[in-house]
Amino acid sequence: MTALDLLDHALPATAPTFSPENPRQSLRKLLLPLFRRVAESSYAWRAESVGYWNTEDGRYWMPRLVFKRPGETPEIKIGIFAGIHGDEPAGVFALCDFVRALDASPVRGRGYELHVYPLVNPTGYEDRTRHARAGKDLNREFWRGSLDPEVALLEKEILREQYHGYISLHSDDTCEGFYAFARGHTLTEHLLRPALAAVEAALPLDRRSEIDGFHAEEGIIHTAYDGILSAPPGSNPQPFEVVLETPTHAPLHLQRGAFVLALVEILTHYRRFIAYGGDL
Ligand SMILES: [Zn+2]
Repeated sequence: MTALDLLDHALPATAPTFSPENPRQSLRKLLLPLFRRVAESSYAWRAESVGYWNTEDGRYWMPRLVFKRPGETPEIKIGIFAGIHGDEPAGVFALCDFVRALDASPVRGRGYELHVYPLVNPTGYEDRTRHARAGKDLNREFWRGSLDPEVALLEKEILREQYHGYISLHSDDTCEGFYAFARGHTLTEHLLRPALAAVEAALPLDRRSEIDGFHAEEGIIHTAYDGILSAPPGSNPQPFEVVLETPTHAPLHLQRGAFVLALVEILTHYRRFIAYGGDL
C-alpha cells in the first residue's frame, strides 16, 4: 500500500467540517465517532482521556489516542499534537484521519508507541479562536509555570513519557505553501526533507527565504518562538521536534492529506535512523 493509497482509508465517507451549528455539538460529532470506532473495533489503538478541567461553561476533557500493536514492545515513543490553536482545524481533522489510516494499515506503525493528542485546546476549537477561552495563546506558555489546565496536563504527560520525538500540527494564513520548523536533534532536518517531498503530492511547499518573519530554506525554519509545546528544556538524549504548517487557504482535504503524508513519512524515516544509527 503506498502512502497515497493510505489516504483513501484515512478520509471518512462523511468528513467532519467546521459547521456553523452549535460548536459543542460539532466537537462531539468530531470526536465521539472516532472514539467509538476505536473502542469497538481497533486492533492497535486505544482511546483515552488525559484529564478533565472545569470552566464556567462546564467540564472539558483532553483526548488521547495511543497506538501500540498487540504483542509488540515498541522502543520508540512519539507524541503528536494538534489543535493547540483553536482556529486551525486542519490538524485536528488530520489526526483523526491518521488514526483511521494506521487502523487500516497498522504495520505502518511497527516499532512505535504513538501518543496522539488530536485536540489540545477544546475551548478555543469551540470558539474558533487561536487562544483558549481563558485568554491565553497556549503555545507560548510551555515550561514557564503556566496554570492553564491544558498546559499543565500536557507538561505532566511529556515529563512522564519522555518522547523520542514531538510533532505538532498547525496552519498559517500568511504562507504560500506547506512548511515546517525543525528543532531539537540535528537529525530533525533529515526527517523533514523526505516528509516535505511526500507532501508535495498534496500541496506545494512555501519556498520563500523568509516565512512568518523567520529565515527559511526550502520550506524549513530552524528557529522558533519561545514557550511552544516542546520537549522539557535540557532533555537528554535530545528528541527530534517538528512543527508542520499547512496554508490555511488551501482546500481542507488537501491540508489533511498533506499532514497524513508527512506523518507517515517521518515515522518511516525515523525508524530507519534508529535501526541504522544506533546511538541517536
Ligand atoms: Zn498554530
